[in-house]
Amino acid sequence: MIRISLDSLIVLYLAIVLGALFCIWVATEIRANRREQRRRRDYVICGICDHIFEDRSERRLLNCPRCGALTERTKVREI
Ligand SMILES: [Zn+2]
Repeated sequence: MIRISLDSLIVLYLAIVLGALFCIWVATEIRANRREQRRRRDYVICGICDHIFEDRSERRLLNCPRCGALTERTKVREI
C-alpha cells in the first residue's frame, strides 16, 4: 500500500483539479479561435454597397446578392 501524507494528498488533488481546469480552458480557447477564424473567412463585405453577406464556398470572387457586383473576398476587420 502506498503511504502518503495529508499535505501531499491535498497538493496532488489540487494539481489534478487545476490541471483539468487548465486543459478545459485551453480547449475552449482553441475552439473559440477556430470559430472566430471561420466566421471571419465566411463573411464578405461588398466594396460597392457595403452589404455584408455570408458565403461558405472557397471562391475568391463572389457576386453580391444585393447589387450583383463582383466582390473579392478579403478579411473582415473588427472595429
Ligand atoms: Zn453590393
